[in-house]
Amino acid sequence: MFEHLTDQPADKILALMGAYKADPRDDKIDLGVGVYKDAEGRTPIMRAVKAAEARLLERETTKSYTALAGDPAFSDAMIDLVLADTLPRDRIAAIATPGGTGAVRQAFELIGRTTPEATIWVSDPTWPNHLSILKHLDARTRSYRYFDPASRAVDMAGMMADLGEAQPGDVVLLHGCCHNPTGANPTAEQWDEIVATLKARQLVPMIDIAYQGFGDGLDADAAATRLIASSLDEVLIAASCSKNFGIYRERTGILMAIARDVPQARKAQDNLAYLNRQNYSFPPDHGARVVSTILTDPELRADWQAELEEVREGMLKLREQLAAELRQLSNSDRFDFLAEHRGMFSRLGASPEQVARLRDDHGIYMVGDSRMNIAGLNAKTVPVLARAIIAAGI
Ligand code: PMP
Repeated sequence: MFEHLTDQPADKILALMGAYKADPRDDKIDLGVGVYKDAEGRTPIMRAVKAAEARLLERETTKSYTALAGDPAFSDAMIDLVLADTLPRDRIAAIATPGGTGAVRQAFELIGRTTPEATIWVSDPTWPNHLSILKHLDARTRSYRYFDPASRAVDMAGMMADLGEAQPGDVVLLHGCCHNPTGANPTAEQWDEIVATLKARQLVPMIDIAYQGFGDGLDADAAATRLIASSLDEVLIAASCSKNFGIYRERTGILMAIARDVPQARKAQDNLAYLNRQNYSFPPDHGARVVSTILTDPELRADWQAELEEVREGMLKLREQLAAELRQLSNSDRFDFLAEHRGMFSRLGASPEQVARLRDDHGIYMVGDSRMNIAGLNAKTVPVLARAIIAAGI
């Protein structure tokens, strides 16, 4: 039977990781894979995560199944983290999922069950997994303009023009903060405009929020999500705990479905639990329990927030340092967008040839579309990258 299978394209980022590993140069710099790294290049386990795990090891008395929707304490804690008191809890259905990817997948499946004729609008560009999952599910997809290659900011006019073609009931996938791969995000005024368009055209927002706490802070990063949740009747939210808790491999995420009223929220809840049942039955629990332990314990929560702030401020400092170096070297402000972008990524706006030059001539690895992981830098490598960017003619 396996002879009928087709070859799958190699994952570009994993291939890049392989090439980086094989590069013998001592001064090579990895700005590829989307994992947070500290100044020493490590992806540490956060202090609060270690403490919560120690507590679980000591106090957990069973590994029996949880509920199909996952542990309710996790859902409650995550709804509070993402939405605070934006709307009544009984309008929100939620399931724990294997990572943010699991939440995205379940959201697309839910859309497919309820409105298969809806087109799902995605930003151009977006996280490549959005596109590959949509393709895998045979979903109707269109893209809206998002990134202005000249300013490296959001192409608001293009986005609005493209969403002007969306039909009532279509779904618009938005990144709640820290857009991947560009790093460019709408301003508060632009979010207002997006909300007005969603309302006027009766569109359903689906928010993917995978980097809450990596941009301007936990509450600031959730502001757009909260605004949308309080402005529209129906909203889907896929949230990941991989980055802000640093628990990538624990596969911890949540899908929230905001319904227009309580009976519809109950129906959505039953359908979400059903989807978990069909796909993997019970969702992973360890990471979810670590997260709810941290979020419900004032001391652990404060320590987690403090460490997350260090991570966020560290990346912001690197952005500012890089923009300042490039201002000096280029004698212009054309790289100032690097300090405006938020999150782990920035799209540099280099051509594939220039990206290849950075790799071949300077040992600097970034994704082919010139997405670079800011967390792959440190204070010493920022000037190296800045000089290479100028030398490569970017
Ligand atoms: N959405 C976006 C935009 C992401 O960048 C990521 C992480 N790469 C995810 C969702 C989900 O990640 P995970 O499944 O590891 O939680």
